[in-house]
Amino acid sequence: MRVTINKQQCVGCGLCEELLPEVFIMQNQKSRVKQEGLKKADKYEVLTIAEDCPAEAIIVSENADDES
Ligand code: SF4
Repeated sequence: MRVTINKQQCVGCGLCEELLPEVFIMQNQKSRVKQEGLKKADKYEVLTIAEDCPAEAIIVSENADDES
């Protein structure tokens, strides 16, 4: 699983960090993905937060080289 933030779209609400601080961290009013935390994160939890993001700025993609 690959997770990226569309920084142009992110409105800096902080919801993702609040819900899953192991994966998302706010930096300069924008969310950033902690790759280390992402490895251990629950995929469905991440997907749910991506859906909850008011700006639809969390992009989740599946890769062929995905470990999970
Ligand atoms: S929930 Fe979405 S808009 Fe809010 S900080 Fe996270 S990525 Fe940005």
